[in-house]
Amino acid sequence: MLPFGFDNTYARELPGFYVAWKPAAVPTPRLLFLNQALAAELKLDGAALNGPEGAALFAGNAVPEGAEPIAQAYAGHQFGGFSPQLGDGRALLLGEVIDRAGRRRDIAFKGSGRTPFSRSGDGKAAVGPMLREVLIGEALHALGIPTTRALAVAATGEPVYREQALPGAVLTRVAASHLRVGTFQFFAARGDIDKLRQLADYAIARHDPDLAATPERYLALLQAVAARQATLIAQWMNVGFIHGVMNTDNMAISGESIDFGPCAFMEAYDPAAVFSSIDHGGRYAYSNQPHIARWNLARFAETLLPLMASADDEAAVQHSVAQVMTVIDAFPARYATALLQGQRAKLGLHAAGVADDEADTALANDWLALLHAQAVDFTLAWRRLAGAADGNDSALRALFAEPTALAAWLTRWRERCRRDDAAGGPGAVERAARMRRVNPWIIPRNHRVEEALAAASGNDDLVPFERLLAALRQPFDETPEGAPYAEPALAEVTACYRTFCGT
Ligand code: AMP
Ligand code: MG
Repeated sequence: MLPFGFDNTYARELPGFYVAWKPAAVPTPRLLFLNQALAAELKLDGAALNGPEGAALFAGNAVPEGAEPIAQAYAGHQFGGFSPQLGDGRALLLGEVIDRAGRRRDIAFKGSGRTPFSRSGDGKAAVGPMLREVLIGEALHALGIPTTRALAVAATGEPVYREQALPGAVLTRVAASHLRVGTFQFFAARGDIDKLRQLADYAIARHDPDLAATPERYLALLQAVAARQATLIAQWMNVGFIHGVMNTDNMAISGESIDFGPCAFMEAYDPAAVFSSIDHGGRYAYSNQPHIARWNLARFAETLLPLMASADDEAAVQHSVAQVMTVIDAFPARYATALLQGQRAKLGLHAAGVADDEADTALANDWLALLHAQAVDFTLAWRRLAGAADGNDSALRALFAEPTALAAWLTRWRERCRRDDAAGGPGAVERAARMRRVNPWIIPRNHRVEEALAAASGNDDLVPFERLLAALRQPFDETPEGAPYAEPALAEVTACYRTFCGT
């Protein structure tokens, strides 16, 4: 049996937080994807995994030595409504491994069959949505954005029934942890303060060990989670990523992107963009993401309050509420700071001495307003702005139907770049080079993702998936092979594009 070197703290230290369970056996396991780079990071033998033994393992037919598969309990607000019990209805945590960098990583299945948390679901997953999770995770990772990642996808050889019969698959996911806001909500909703404290202490030990000795460690945990979410959401916004289902069970304490089922990258810039077929009210629209993050953090804060003050001490409760509200109320400013920091890099502004938050925010907002007014492709506009930093405006100008307003903005931006350089900024050539390292040329364009998934799921043809994946792994390099993936879809295609969570 292939060695993983599991060390399972969750199973060991948190009895009562999960149900021990086994993956369902499947008829004919076949490996569709194996992430060799991630396998190496995890100190796994990628060559040995890339065969029948790996297929059996990643389909759930052979539980690797040392794994202790468990279905984790969690609750969650879904589209604003609270479900006191969700949990791993089609997922299992196999265990944890320590990677090459010494980080503890969860290895979990998705689509491995029914569990006691399955409710009416079948516990299964289809090839398309699982390969989609591969593509988006690898794309986010290559863009430098914290995310859970796929280690493998194995086809099961059995159909799963959605609107139609689809080929089934199991995804193996790697995550800093699967602790969610919803995990805390599960125990808070039951008034189980002992377990809540155990969970919070576990989260601190795992993600913020420096806080273990601070006197107000639960408040400090809230602050740490808020800081990570502010950075994460700012990074999403700066690449036009729309998660699609930011329920509290899909917000990770680690600050990684997780469970991005019906997600999509924006093409033409539109703050109201929403692609998910189940998001009728636009709750999780692009521009709502920072507001939802704050809302989710408030739900997280509520779960921590019983740990901060005893319910029968009114004054202590008031004090704790005031403390957590300070953190929640500070979130928009924290997010704005993270956003602006990313925008400055995207705009090629580097010198600290001339950085004026208000003026630079206005510069960025006016740029975005231009893109919005003329429905310009978000990714290409930023990328071609790097060309304009080099002195070549023509490619950028070609994106605008009406370039006069752009010219006025470019004059302002150039003036700001001149001041940057006068204060020690990098100069035109280096500015353009740096801008090309933060403004991707390639994102997972929706039509390309759909094309790859349709070929894989419908025709068992993985070539388009593999080509797209290769392109997504080098998002900042302009290569001939990448060129087809840099092109936006036709506006008509994007206008009616819908994503499905595939559950
Ligand atoms: P998600 O939309 O993937 O974040 O899942 C929300 C909840 O629904 C979680 O508790 C999942 O385990 C559960 N769930 C989603 N799909 C299925 C399925 N096919 N079978 C059982 N449970 C599911
Ligand atoms: Mg989820």
